[in-house]
Amino acid sequence: MSIHNSARALTSEFGAIVGAGNVLTDRAQLLPYVTDWRGRYVGNALCVVRPGNSAETAAVVRLCAQSNTPIVTQGGNTGLCGASVPDQTGSAIVLSMTRMRSVRALDLANNTICVEAGCVLAHVQQAAATAERLFPISLAAEGSCTIGGNIATNAGGVQVLRYGSMREQVLGLEVVLPDGRIWNGLRGLRKDNTGYDLKHVFIGAEGTLGVITAAVLKLYPRARQQVTAWASVANPADAVTLLQALREHVGERVTAFELVSHFCLELVLKHIPGVRDPLTDACSWYVLIELSDESNTTPLAAGLEHCLERAYEQQWVTNAAIAESGAQAQAMWSLREHISEAQRLEGANIKHDVSMPLSHIAAFIETGQQRVSQAFPGARLVVFGHVGDGNVHYNVSAPLGQDTRGFLASAPAVNRVVHDLVHEHGGSISAEHGIGQLKRDELPRYKSALELDLMRTLKRAWDPHNIMNPGKVL
Ligand SMILES: Cc1cc2nc3c(=O)[nH]c(=O)nc-3n(C[C@H](O)[C@H](O)[C@H](O)COP(=O)(O)OP(=O)(O)OC[C@H]3O[C@@H](n4cnc5c(N)ncnc54)[C@H](O)[C@@H]3O)c2cc1C
Repeated sequence: MSIHNSARALTSEFGAIVGAGNVLTDRAQLLPYVTDWRGRYVGNALCVVRPGNSAETAAVVRLCAQSNTPIVTQGGNTGLCGASVPDQTGSAIVLSMTRMRSVRALDLANNTICVEAGCVLAHVQQAAATAERLFPISLAAEGSCTIGGNIATNAGGVQVLRYGSMREQVLGLEVVLPDGRIWNGLRGLRKDNTGYDLKHVFIGAEGTLGVITAAVLKLYPRARQQVTAWASVANPADAVTLLQALREHVGERVTAFELVSHFCLELVLKHIPGVRDPLTDACSWYVLIELSDESNTTPLAAGLEHCLERAYEQQWVTNAAIAESGAQAQAMWSLREHISEAQRLEGANIKHDVSMPLSHIAAFIETGQQRVSQAFPGARLVVFGHVGDGNVHYNVSAPLGQDTRGFLASAPAVNRVVHDLVHEHGGSISAEHGIGQLKRDELPRYKSALELDLMRTLKRAWDPHNIMNPGKVL
């Protein structure tokens, strides 16, 4: 049979499993599935297959295993490292999970929700809210990204400081393995010491070990009080001191602590209509603080005010505004949430999503400024992030007047300077977004040979024919 005919035969077999209408082959239909969010990677695919349940997913995977067809599992396709799209050979299928979006069970006594992998994150948050609970993972792509993608990338977001990342939210998983068997690990247990905890292998694996079809997730009490503030600080070291003081004063009620450089604020004020600076005097750095409390007993705003006053006396804070309404709080968040967009509108930039121990953040930012300016005169640093988790988005914007192509050509050299410095500080070159294609070739420089060897051993054992998202991570 010719390659063309065998591809056609395979496509019709997929159609027999999921329904012909759920197999897309037309190039125009494929394009959004083979193009990543940033438009940086444009691949090709044999077809897009959209299963409606776990049994269909398993049958599709079995067929791929028999025919040695690579599988790129995809949720909302909002990933930022090119992991959710296939290469250009056209040999892989995109397995789109977006039809699998039901809430299977809500167990209020156990504080858990069981959802299918294609559920959009915002819908899970809403389902939890309707039941007077909180699902705490929250990020700017929440209207499009899916739970399966969140688990496969171990997504973080703005509340990791209080609740942890996606890994901390997962109690159980259902996974279709590379040979098509279904592993039902959908347990709602907070304690289970019965050997290796297999679910953790799939979390953060970027679809390279199996297809997640459903998950049991933790729920929390909803916050009854929330208070937001925007404060200016002289430098990142003072921001870290302020965070420590806040934690001493209000403990776990610090749910977000975001660092924003003055240049980020300038970009947002320049490019985003309708936003405004909450403070009157400019400063080099700002922090966005959010405190939340599940009880009504201690007034939060008074606690925050007291803490900020003390910080002002100690000169860790130079000015601060506490939001007096939901609208004011939203306006402060809007400044933070629009940084990426404002940076995009300003022009070309080279992004780094890095993390390190909180105790190293200030020194990293200071040395980074010196090294980047020295190596790339005129480059403008866009520094912001979930600093409470030791996570900084350390982006480098082109010098004014430099052409995009010329600047982007220097990306490997810029990455080398930034990632080497991260490594010196005991950090990670990918805090939240993963490795995918984008950082795959950087990994061997920063992970030990032993760690990589263990990862490859696992991949070979679980996916011996390398059909699960080949070419990503390893
Ligand atoms: C505006 C914006 C803001 C963002 N902010 C954050 C942030 O604050 N924190 C953060 O962590 N990320 C952030 N991201 C990145 C992205 O949203 C997350 O990585 C998200 O978790 C990806 O989910 P998705 O459904 O879109 O996955 P996709 O992009 O479709 O896939 C991502 C990876 O997961 C795999 N995958 C998807 N579904 C499954 C499944 N069911 N089984 C197995 N593997 C699967 C894919 O193969 C791929 O490797 C942001 C992205 C955007 C565009």
